[in-house]
Amino acid sequence: MCGIVGYVGSREATPVLMNGLKRLEYRGYDSAGIAILHEGKIKMVKTKGRLAALEGKLNSVDLKGHMGIGHTRWATHGEPSDANSHPHVSSGGKIAVVHNGILENYIKLKDFLISRGYNFQSETDTEVVANLIDYNYRDDLVKAVIETLNEMEGAYALGVICTDCPDEFVAARKDSPLIVGLGKDENYIASDIPAILEYTKNVIILEDREVVRISAGRAEIFNLLGERVYREVFHVDWDVASAEKGGYEHFMMKEICEEPAVVKAAISPRIRDGQILFENFSLTDEMVRSCEKINIVACGTAYHAGVVGKYAIERLVRISVEADLASEFRYRDPMVDKKQITIIISQSGETLDTLMALREARKKGSHVVSIVNVVGSSIARESDDVLYTFAGPEIAVASTKAYNAQLTVLYLLALKFGQIRGTVNDEDIRYYLDQLMGLPGNMEEILRDKKEIQRFAAGHYNAGSIFFIGRNIDYALSMEGSLKLKEISYIHSEAYAGGELKHGTIALVENGTLVICPMTQDLLFEKMVSNIREVKARGAVVLAITSRKHAPEAEKAADAVIAIPDIDPLIAPVTAVIPLQLFAYYMSVMKGNDVDKPRNIAKSVTVE
Ligand code: GLU
Repeated sequence: MCGIVGYVGSREATPVLMNGLKRLEYRGYDSAGIAILHEGKIKMVKTKGRLAALEGKLNSVDLKGHMGIGHTRWATHGEPSDANSHPHVSSGGKIAVVHNGILENYIKLKDFLISRGYNFQSETDTEVVANLIDYNYRDDLVKAVIETLNEMEGAYALGVICTDCPDEFVAARKDSPLIVGLGKDENYIASDIPAILEYTKNVIILEDREVVRISAGRAEIFNLLGERVYREVFHVDWDVASAEKGGYEHFMMKEICEEPAVVKAAISPRIRDGQILFENFSLTDEMVRSCEKINIVACGTAYHAGVVGKYAIERLVRISVEADLASEFRYRDPMVDKKQITIIISQSGETLDTLMALREARKKGSHVVSIVNVVGSSIARESDDVLYTFAGPEIAVASTKAYNAQLTVLYLLALKFGQIRGTVNDEDIRYYLDQLMGLPGNMEEILRDKKEIQRFAAGHYNAGSIFFIGRNIDYALSMEGSLKLKEISYIHSEAYAGGELKHGTIALVENGTLVICPMTQDLLFEKMVSNIREVKARGAVVLAITSRKHAPEAEKAADAVIAIPDIDPLIAPVTAVIPLQLFAYYMSVMKGNDVDKPRNIAKSVTVE
C-alpha cells in the first residue's frame, strides 16, 4: 500500500510529482522519493520519513527535467530507511522503478539476478523488479516490462523509467490500483485520482495485467501478450476531498470494504506449496515444542483479536493460552518465563501499554512474537519476531481491517504451531488453508448485502443500550461488536457470555432492549437459541448473525437474522465481524457523529 505518481510533459516534473504525492500521503508515509530523467541520466532524491523530509532534501538539489516518477512508501519488505525508499535503480543505473505491492517470488528472482552479476542496495522486493527489467531489456522498454511481469508473482502497480527512453515511461498494474491521467500535451499516472485532479479530470482506469507506454502526446495500453487494448476515458466529476476516500463517504467504510483484499494479502505471501512459511523467523521448532504456555497481550480491538486467538490456539495446539490486556498484564508481575511464548498485537506498533507489556515479557525471558501493521514501529523493532499484517494504512480511528488481518495471522500461527507440535496433521492444514483462502470471497458476499444491516440500524439508532451475547469465539466477537458500537455511536453497550447473562445482567433487559447475538459456533447453536428465548421472554428485540445453514432455525427464535456464508466456526469471526462493524458504522452515521474521528479517542495511543 503506497502512492505512486508519474509525469511527462512540458512542465517541470518535480513540483507536479510532489503535489501528487501530497494527495497520496494517506496511502503510505514512512519514506518518499522522486526520480527524474534529464539529459539521459536518472537523478534521484529519496529519504526515510514523511514528504516534508523529502521536500527539505529537494531544497538543496537541482532536480530539473520534464519526466519522472515519485513514490510515498508504506514499507513491507525492509524497514523504512533511505536505502529502502523508492525509486529503486537497476545495477548500472539504466532503469528506475516505483512499486506499490508485494513481489511474492522475489527471493528466487533475487538469487537468479545475483547469479547474473546484479547487486542490491536495499532489502526491498522492488529492487528485484528494477534489475529484472534491466536483465530483460534489449531495445524495447514495454517488451522488457511485459517479460518481467510474466515472471512476477504477487501484486503490483509500477512506474518505470529508462535512460534509453528520454520522452516516455511505462506503467503497469495487477491487484494494486493505477490510473492514467490525460492532459493536453502532458500525461500522468497515479495510484489514485486526487493526485492528478488539479491538472486533469480525464482518466483511464487501468485494468489488471495491463501495461501502458506514456509520452506527452500518447498513452498506449497493452496486455501481457503485447497486444494493444483500448480503454474508455472517464471524466471525473468528484471533488478532491471525497476522491481521497476513493468515493466513500468515510474512511471507515472504505477500510471495511478493503477487508477481503487485506485478508488475502495477509495469507498469500505466507503459503508456499501448501505449507505455512514465516520469513526470517527466529523462533525455532524446538522452542515451540518445549513451550509450556502462550500469552497473548494487546489493547482494544487487538485484544479482542487476541481472545479469538486464544480459542484458536488452544483448540489447534492444545496448549494453555492466556489473553490479557496490556495495561493489566504489565502491572501484575505476570508469571512469565522463558518456557513461554508471548504474542503481542498492535495495529500501530506504537501502543504504549502494549510496548511496556512487551518489555515486561522479554525481561522475564519470554520469546516475543508481535503481530503489527506498521513496519519499523517500536513494537516491531523490539520484538524477537514480527509478523506484519500488510493491511495498509488504517485512517479511521475505529479499527476494522486491522482486526481481520490480525485474526488471519493468528490462525496461520496456530496452524503452524499445531503442525510443529503434532496436534494438526497435513489434512487439517490443507482443510484450514482452503477455508482461509475462501474467506475473501465470502467477505465480498457479505459486503454486497450491506443494505440489510443499514435498514436494521435505521430502526434502532435511538437505542439507549445494546447488549451483545455470544458463546466461546462468539463471545470474543461480541466484545469487538460492542466496542465498535461504543466507539463511534456513543451508545452504551455490553458484551456478555451467553450463559453468564442470567447471573445478574439480565436484570437490565426490559421491553424493547436490543440484543445482538452472533451464532457462528455450530456446537453451541442450540444453547444460544435458549439464551435468545430467555431475553425475548423479558421483552428484548433480538438480531442474530449466523451461517446460512442455521438461518431458518435462527429465524424461529430471533426478530431479525443476518445470514452469512457457511464457514468453519473456528475462523468465522473474520466474516461475522463485518455485519457488526457495518452496524456500528450505520448507527454512527444515522446519529450524525464524526465516524472517522470519534470523540475522546485517538488512533495511536501512545500514553498510558
Ligand atoms: N513492497 C515494496 C516495499 O516494501 C512496496 C511497498 C509499498 O507498496 O509501499 O518497498
